[in-house]
Amino acid sequence: MSTLIQHGTVVTARETLLADVRIEGERIAEVGPGLLPRPQEEAIDAAGAYVIPGGIDAHTHLDMPFGGTVSSDDFETGTRAAAFGGTTTIVDFAIQARGTRMLDALDTWMKKAEGRAAIDYGLHMIVTDLAGAGLEDMDDMVREGVASFKLFMAYPNVLMVDDATIFRALQQTSKNGALICMHAENGSVIDILVRQALAQGKTAPIYHALTRPTLAEAEAVHRAIALAEIAGVPVYIVHLSSEDALNQVREARDRGLPAFAETCPQYLLLSIDSMNVPGFESAKYVFTPPLREKENLPKLWDGLKSDHLQVVSTDHCPFCFEDQKSLGKDDFTKIPNGGPGIENRLQLLHHYGVNAGKITLNRFVEILSTAPARIFGMYPKKGAIAPGSDADIVVWDPKAEHLISAKTHHMRVDYSMFEGFQVQGNARHVFSRGELIVENGQYVGRVGRGQYLRRAARGGAWK
Ligand SMILES: [Zn+2]
Repeated sequence: MSTLIQHGTVVTARETLLADVRIEGERIAEVGPGLLPRPQEEAIDAAGAYVIPGGIDAHTHLDMPFGGTVSSDDFETGTRAAAFGGTTTIVDFAIQARGTRMLDALDTWMKKAEGRAAIDYGLHMIVTDLAGAGLEDMDDMVREGVASFKLFMAYPNVLMVDDATIFRALQQTSKNGALICMHAENGSVIDILVRQALAQGKTAPIYHALTRPTLAEAEAVHRAIALAEIAGVPVYIVHLSSEDALNQVREARDRGLPAFAETCPQYLLLSIDSMNVPGFESAKYVFTPPLREKENLPKLWDGLKSDHLQVVSTDHCPFCFEDQKSLGKDDFTKIPNGGPGIENRLQLLHHYGVNAGKITLNRFVEILSTAPARIFGMYPKKGAIAPGSDADIVVWDPKAEHLISAKTHHMRVDYSMFEGFQVQGNARHVFSRGELIVENGQYVGRVGRGQYLRRAARGGAWK
């Protein structure tokens, strides 16, 4: 089976050129101007559109247990929604519960995904316990293609690990080449602020944000980077949300340290002002880190432009407003933490980034696809428009008008954080390993066609 994408503008992280792209089977066969269609070949006219590598969302939580409930998108609904928005690869998180083996956790998450995913998926492992065989387990994970681990400096008694555990995990990566990803917030300090707020009867959703100061994030980012520097290994900060935290990453990078960080659309486009709504409505914006004062937004955009931030992922972790967020109606600490976004990442970054002149088209491709592919050991299989790469390709119509709304989105959640946002630019055709899965707003893929993606150790963060 072969397909020719004709007359489009191929956009990669490095260049923009008028070229045709030939897909043979699951791979890209040729890229160049004036390729001639062959008999029996499917031709797609991409005139006026961009031909870009499929989006890679390196931070999603599908079918994830949290606070007595489970995130509302599973691997079937979540990956299909991702595909609609031009994302063709995700890296989700398996969770090692305390006292359990990582291979068992991996098995649990493989079963959640198997036979359901519409696009390819990799997994990070969340480490909560390195006692016993933990370090050997990490090496096992790398052999299984789980070449990155996430550790939490927040959520005491649930996910939080101490500095010794973080340091041992970092050191182990110098042997196995994995990448440590840090949820950087000082959980012990936040825990005290939370208790004090509750004791004063402050139970509304806004107190979730007000008990998590930006300095608690910056302190943890600083500590994570310092521990990685002592261990002599790279580190990646997930969902960085504030200028204070960004300053720590910039300082480290200016000194030449291999410190990397991602942010998310919600931190680039929404501020704590969004929580200024009556009643319990603001629970829709309860996630961690929380929304910040709006002064932070332009700083994060600057960070993306100047490569102090390398990646935009979503931290997609949806909970329905009606019957899940409501668990915390009388106590903000019981609101499941997370928000939906897997479908809208490219639309938002194209409109508010490229169209607004904040980032170039090439940078758009880099932060949404090529950089996460490199950093997480998938490049050039993913994240590239080049012969030999997987034919994960999006034909992006930069003029398509789209109104973001829970009424029309494909995520299994009853609200949108970006309700009413009118954007220009959307995916028109989406190919995953050569197979057309979205065409003009219709899903034409198959449940379960997505494959587990083994990722290589010593990816881009090590170079
Ligand atoms: Zn997350």
